[in-house]
Amino acid sequence: MGAKRRVVIVEDEPAIRRAVVDILKMAGYEPVEAADGEAGLHASRAGGVDLVLLDLMLPKLDGFDVLSALRETHPSLPVIILTARGAEDDRVRGLKLGADDYVVKPFSARELLARIEAVLRRTPERPAQILRLKHGATVVDCARHEVVTPDGQRTALSEMEAEVMRRLATQRGQAVSRESLLSSVWGIRDGRVETRAIDMHITRLRNKLSGSSSESNGGGEDWIVTVRGKGYMLGADVQVETEGRGS
Ligand code: CA
Repeated sequence: MGAKRRVVIVEDEPAIRRAVVDILKMAGYEPVEAADGEAGLHASRAGGVDLVLLDLMLPKLDGFDVLSALRETHPSLPVIILTARGAEDDRVRGLKLGADDYVVKPFSARELLARIEAVLRRTPERPAQILRLKHGATVVDCARHEVVTPDGQRTALSEMEAEVMRRLATQRGQAVSRESLLSSVWGIRDGRVETRAIDMHITRLRNKLSGSSSESNGGGEDWIVTVRGKGYMLGADVQVETEGRGS
């Protein structure tokens, strides 16, 4: 086998997190630690992750919110939930949200590793990571979070803007609703009031993509198409470059 499998551990209790990190290292995995839900979502979405161990009671964003946001951008990334003993409802809810398995705390190293191996066996392929988007001579580099226009000008994208591009590319050919963008990119569930904020973000993003600095200049509609009544969609002529496992 080639590179070490990378496992994100999202757990706010330092003692448990460290114990899991040690278990993973001993077993030849590459652990990535996150101590709250936001950091966990960010780490899980970074390229090259093979599996996520997700606690449910977490600061900033709870495990359920992390899982549902993650499922919108990474539908097949393996996730194992870490639940407290007796929390039957949590387990069921987690599985309904698309978790692959669960482990009840406190767990033994052997049990945890057995679950991880079983889930990884069932999901041999790491979902393709989106590396770059291209339209004409303009490139969006999703890893470096920047737009490079034909004249060589580089414009930084915020993490959220890069995530919007990834989200649209993941679901290319379909419109992505504003609500879905809010929940998957910003982790906001009930976003009735804030959907207009999405439009402002899209306008700014389009300006960056088209290389124009003024708010009113517009452009960028080739990159991000408005679908009336539905949301936004990646432009049909935008090329998506992805990278699979190990390459
Ligand atoms: Ca916790």
